[in-house]
Amino acid sequence: MFRQRWKLALSALLFSTLACAALFGDETAGKGAGMVMPPTPTLAAVSCPLITEEIVRLNAGAAESSDEGFEAEGGEEEEAVYLATYPVSGDELGEPYFDSAPAELEDEQKDDAAHRRIWGYFTSLIPLEYRPTIAEYSIMTDGRENLLAAVAQTADDPNLWRLEVDIADTSDYYYLTFTLAHEFAHLFTLAPDQMPPSLAIFNNPEDNDIYLREVSACPTFFPGEGCSTPDSYINQFYERFWTDIYEEWNEINLIEDEDEYSGALDDFYYQYEDRFLTDYSATHPAEDIAEAFGFFIFTGQPDGDTVAEQKIRFFYEYPELTALRETMRRNVCLNFQP
Ligand SMILES: [Zn+2]
Repeated sequence: MFRQRWKLALSALLFSTLACAALFGDETAGKGAGMVMPPTPTLAAVSCPLITEEIVRLNAGAAESSDEGFEAEGGEEEEAVYLATYPVSGDELGEPYFDSAPAELEDEQKDDAAHRRIWGYFTSLIPLEYRPTIAEYSIMTDGRENLLAAVAQTADDPNLWRLEVDIADTSDYYYLTFTLAHEFAHLFTLAPDQMPPSLAIFNNPEDNDIYLREVSACPTFFPGEGCSTPDSYINQFYERFWTDIYEEWNEINLIEDEDEYSGALDDFYYQYEDRFLTDYSATHPAEDIAEAFGFFIFTGQPDGDTVAEQKIRFFYEYPELTALRETMRRNVCLNFQP
């Protein structure tokens, strides 16, 4: 049930976590579960512009090479197990809370050093002032692949968010880096100044009537947790790139049957392929902007005229984001230096 499914109807209330599937290609096959390694010497030997290009190439390639399309939720996918949750204060992690977990995951659960290493990597990429809403950090796992990371509102405060990382998928820093940038995009595009959270929905997460009432009262894009402000990044992105296909997408998104949904979304993606940077982008406008942000950070400014390329150029209209791009690219390079 942790598989990414966005619905504007009832199921959105049940799956409010923005679960971000890792789109692994064959490159990651055979990596050890639970292994966490620093950037390898191979990476350090490559010049930094090539590293950032490789991050985006692998993530795009993984999406394109996924010939299975949108995988239906099924018995072959393991449910996510939460292992440890740390309170976050600025850059610092407090003492973790340990969830009850199967005995075979005890090593992963107690690997405090690995948990903190991943957190340290995240904080080394994203400047502190850009992540004021992160109040918790969770280590979880659904086995290798599937989910790599996710964000969700905290249980107590809809203005605060939790970053979740699958410990089994953190050995490849190319994928990890892109996915952390993607998750960060959710955090800043859904922050309270961009999308004041709906208290009615937060306090009544299973009330479909309340949800639909909030959606219909919202004149702008409704990401799920609240009504976006007119000038918010996500509403501007939606207005420019989604209004003409949103109804078509939404009908697909409301399909209950998972196999039927996957097939319809697959068809939708291929129908509009030149609009999307990855197939995962087609799952939801909020995923689309998060994927596009990853491309914005790690690739150059495109000069073509496809909608997909326009989505990358979108971020260059915001000076604060181009400044952030420079900082994040510099931080990636510092991490990968020998
Ligand atoms: Zn996502």
